[in-house]
Amino acid sequence: MLNVSHLTKKYNRFTANDNLSFIVNDGEIAVIAGPNGAGKSTAIKCIAGLLRFSGEIEICGYNNKSIEAKQLLGYIPEIPAPFDLLTVWEHMEFIARAYKLKDGWQARAEELMKRLELYDKRNKLGKELSKGMQQKISICCALLIEPKVVLFDEPFVGLDPHAIKELKAMLFEMRDKGMSIIISTHMLDSVEEFWDKVFIMMNGRIEAERTRAYVEKNGENLEELFFSITEKEASES
Ligand code: ADP
Ligand code: MG
Repeated sequence: MLNVSHLTKKYNRFTANDNLSFIVNDGEIAVIAGPNGAGKSTAIKCIAGLLRFSGEIEICGYNNKSIEAKQLLGYIPEIPAPFDLLTVWEHMEFIARAYKLKDGWQARAEELMKRLELYDKRNKLGKELSKGMQQKISICCALLIEPKVVLFDEPFVGLDPHAIKELKAMLFEMRDKGMSIIISTHMLDSVEEFWDKVFIMMNGRIEAERTRAYVEKNGENLEELFFSITEKEASES
């Protein structure tokens, strides 16, 4: 479970996240939707513990800066940053050592790599890979530790169709296992099949929060809601 409470992040005087509060329960896929610059990546980096912020963030009850929280958290950044001089397989070894994973991680790493068609590239160096391949390394590294909470920042941008299909299948499996998942996107249609909860962000604030059950019960059109928020504020500011 992920609990974000009064998250505010300022870059100097500019407020990129303005008092965000939300919960992602076990077995729930939450989407942060919003146009470029809404503050999605900033929120995700704060949750991942990479930025200073004010407010409280808990991963399964642990403060997000704690070791316990980090051991439970997977983060797939918007821009992959593999090590240039480690091979794909060495990335897996690096994570296994850093997180002190128990024996058995090797089989898991192989399976993840095979699913994302990365296994035949296992001896290639990070710097020799395309952006899509680098992104697949990020996904494998994040999932290898068997996290309870996973943050995906714009995961579908740059992936090939097979990887998108496979990643979507993996998302369903992660939800079934009870993991809490956050996906940021500026394209609502990319997450249509599987979101449980959506936060529509604009100018650093969550302007609307909906559950799938609410939207279905009330016959609401999420895309219309999205544009009514993002275009109204864009024309006002
Ligand atoms: P999104 O991921 O929704 O596109 P970001 O969180 O990347 O949005 O950015 C939100 C706002 O914060 C933007 O206006 C962006 O220019 C600004 N911003 C992001 N990173 C920095 C930074 N390191 N320094 C200053 N401003 C930043
Ligand atoms: Mg972003």
